[in-house]
Amino acid sequence: MRLSESATIAMAQKARSLKNDGKDVIALSLGEPDFDTPKHIKEAAKKALDSGFTKYTPIAGVAELREAICQKFLRENNLAYQNDQILVSTGAKQSINHLILSIVNEGDEVIIPTPYWVSYIEMVRMAGGRPIPIETEATNDFIPDISQFQSKINDKTKLILFSTPSNPTGTVYPKSLLEKLSALLQDYPNCFLISDEIYEHILYEGKHISTASIGNLFDKTITVNGMSKGFAMTGWRIGYMAGPLEIIQACTKLQGQVTSGANAIAQHASIAALNESLEPSKEMKNAFLQRRDYVVNRLNRLEGIQINPPKGAFYVFPDIAYYLHTKYKHWKIDNSNDLAMYLLEEALVSTVAGSPFGYPNGLRISYAASMQELEKAMDRIEAALRQLNK
Ligand code: PMP
Ligand code: GLU
Repeated sequence: MRLSESATIAMAQKARSLKNDGKDVIALSLGEPDFDTPKHIKEAAKKALDSGFTKYTPIAGVAELREAICQKFLRENNLAYQNDQILVSTGAKQSINHLILSIVNEGDEVIIPTPYWVSYIEMVRMAGGRPIPIETEATNDFIPDISQFQSKINDKTKLILFSTPSNPTGTVYPKSLLEKLSALLQDYPNCFLISDEIYEHILYEGKHISTASIGNLFDKTITVNGMSKGFAMTGWRIGYMAGPLEIIQACTKLQGQVTSGANAIAQHASIAALNESLEPSKEMKNAFLQRRDYVVNRLNRLEGIQINPPKGAFYVFPDIAYYLHTKYKHWKIDNSNDLAMYLLEEALVSTVAGSPFGYPNGLRISYAASMQELEKAMDRIEAALRQLNK
């Protein structure tokens, strides 16, 4: 199978290996909160361990966790799922992969607005499906127009897939677009929608809108979420999905054959995360906001770069076209990949090129790092970009 390596993880690996060689690399490549998991969540895990929750759990997840997820959806998103409409998996990445494998058959089409999270495309390809990208523009905050969906959707379209807030752009899809998608999907009964809402708690303006809460989308949408980002729990590997019963059942069957279910201790920790205070998540969000503003201001001071503050997640995704076809010493910058490698080796700052996100002139910079690191990284990026010559 021709499978590309995950570009986010590959770049993080490169940064790690330079660090191991003694280089002072600042890693802004991986989308991972730099905070530790909140204390009460860790305490719940310790308690679970001491109570002997060391066995297989039901495939779909511990009953108490599925209940906590239902309550969360009702309380925070105005979505009334039943417990059997929930499947807990080993990270949201696995939730999305289960969904794509269950829904997409050879030759089926999946509409994915660009820039997209790197793994979507590869997962669709793994299932034998055809990714159908929809192009968006930085100048329009990467929001697609409904006419673009209308022109790509057809009877072979099985899925529409996006994240809101988005990785890599931080874009939040407006309610008006979701309403139009709801109307459009009425004419395509075989087409479902995956709404990846893993950055829900990292939202800087307004209240998060769950796609499934709009119009008639509840029966057509599978909502994916997880613990990694909002609760600083990337290593615990807990994600979940909620949606139409037959889809959840198909994914549960698949999970029963591949992992038997998610880690028991991490599931118990997730119950505490969902049922108890969101205060630590809010504090992390406020820290991300301060960092976002800092990074956006620094970038906007650079010649040829203009970005609006992203509404959510912890990435900026500037268009770097201005710096293409430039040179410095032996470096020739002809695409965003060259630029990312140049910044890594010359400025010792790791970022991710735009191409694997389906937007070749972009560059993803994660600001999930301390202010000191960000200050140092932005100084280095600024100096490195200044020395590029046309
Ligand atoms: N969706 C998006 C948009 C992401 O950025 C990530 C980050 N890894 C995931 C899903 C998967 O998250 P996880 O598997 O850690 O739950
Ligand atoms: N989602 C994060 C990122 O985009 C983590 C890495 C990954 O799973 O690809 O960087």
